[in-house]
Amino acid sequence: KFMIAPPNCHIISLSLKPEESRSKCSKVIMVKETGFYDMLGVKPNATPDELKKAYRKLALKYHPDKNPTEGEKFKQISQAYEILSDPKKREVYDRGGEKAIKEGGNSGSSSSSFSSPMDIFDMFFGGGGRMHRERRGKNVVHQLTVSLEDLYNGTTRKLAVQKNAICERCEGRGGRKGAVEMCMSCHGTGMQVRLHQLAPGMVHQVSTVCHSCQGQGRRISHKDRCKACGGRKILRQKKILEVHIDKGMKDGQKIVFHGEGDQEPGLEPGDIIIVLDQREHPQFTRQGQDLIMTMELQLVEALCGFQKPVQTLDNRTLLITSHPGDLIKPGDKKCVLNEGMPMHRRPFEKGRLIIHFSVVFPQANFLPKHKLKELEHYLPVKMEAEQPESMDDDLYIYADLEDCDFENRKRHSHHHYYMEEDDYATAGGVQCQTS
Ligand SMILES: [Zn+2]
Ligand SMILES: [Zn+2]
Repeated sequence: KFMIAPPNCHIISLSLKPEESRSKCSKVIMVKETGFYDMLGVKPNATPDELKKAYRKLALKYHPDKNPTEGEKFKQISQAYEILSDPKKREVYDRGGEKAIKEGGNSGSSSSSFSSPMDIFDMFFGGGGRMHRERRGKNVVHQLTVSLEDLYNGTTRKLAVQKNAICERCEGRGGRKGAVEMCMSCHGTGMQVRLHQLAPGMVHQVSTVCHSCQGQGRRISHKDRCKACGGRKILRQKKILEVHIDKGMKDGQKIVFHGEGDQEPGLEPGDIIIVLDQREHPQFTRQGQDLIMTMELQLVEALCGFQKPVQTLDNRTLLITSHPGDLIKPGDKKCVLNEGMPMHRRPFEKGRLIIHFSVVFPQANFLPKHKLKELEHYLPVKMEAEQPESMDDDLYIYADLEDCDFENRKRHSHHHYYMEEDDYATAGGVQCQTS
């Protein structure tokens, strides 16, 4: 009666291999304050990867291009990330808080200033290898949400992006050839100088960018301006990008379109950088190349073996099999080799599917008492209790087990503590009066 496979599924029967237990240390970290962690929305024991992910999401959300009114928030996120992503600075912060960072921590110098938020953003999202070129148009960073299935199978997505492009009609000149003339308002300097009289005989000189030419020093008369761009030389352009998501790519991975960013006359164009953002999967979580899932077993399955189907990310059905005689304990981890995520650029190599098991015990009184005796007969023998001969029977105190809800109990006893204190105070008062 055991193991009848559903008829319409592609069956891959797999024996389970024990997963070598790599004990992850999850020590509790004591920190002085959590402000920077809170800013990024992570816990003080966050891993470098978790910090990166948190920064990535928030920095894209609050970047002045997308959220011009949130400049302060963008700055704070950057500062928090700058400190926490540097192990030394993070340690200083954990020990002494923001004050210690501001005081310069280990260096002793009193001016420990933060980098500019834009520099941190560019370092993080940089197009890679092309940062040294100075005069370039801006990089444009986009986030692309993908599913774990997309990353497993690979896919192509079309993404519409807005960017500045040099006007083709006037080839970035802003008007017909030879139409550029010197700005008469500023005489070609791009600056306008205004004199403010502060008091008789006292004059204050203020220089401002010329309004007529926006500081260019040159302008094109109205009739000669390019009709397509209105003399602005650049146009807002919509472009459809085909983004190839390869098998095995990761959350946070960047796909760079070199030279597809904003164009500006006289500058090399920037890059368009696509950052992958993986949506959480209801069943699997990814850990490097491994996929992690949980499986709930009934007690009988844990003890006597089972077959359970698992749908893979490419829609095959794995029949997870534990043979009679195998045994799964609550909290056991087992793995299926080669059913994890494919390696990027080596998609035939795959990680492991790691299954965390939990075991559901039957309800109380699931068997009548006389049958329990029978069941006991099949189970491994009880541990012999310590020999009671030497003890008097009266020395035993029979202790029944009660449910203990930890949280409730704590709150309850807390409450109780204050009650007792009040009682004590009252009692003390009374005592004082009588003595
Ligand atoms: Zn001017
Ligand atoms: Zn034009």
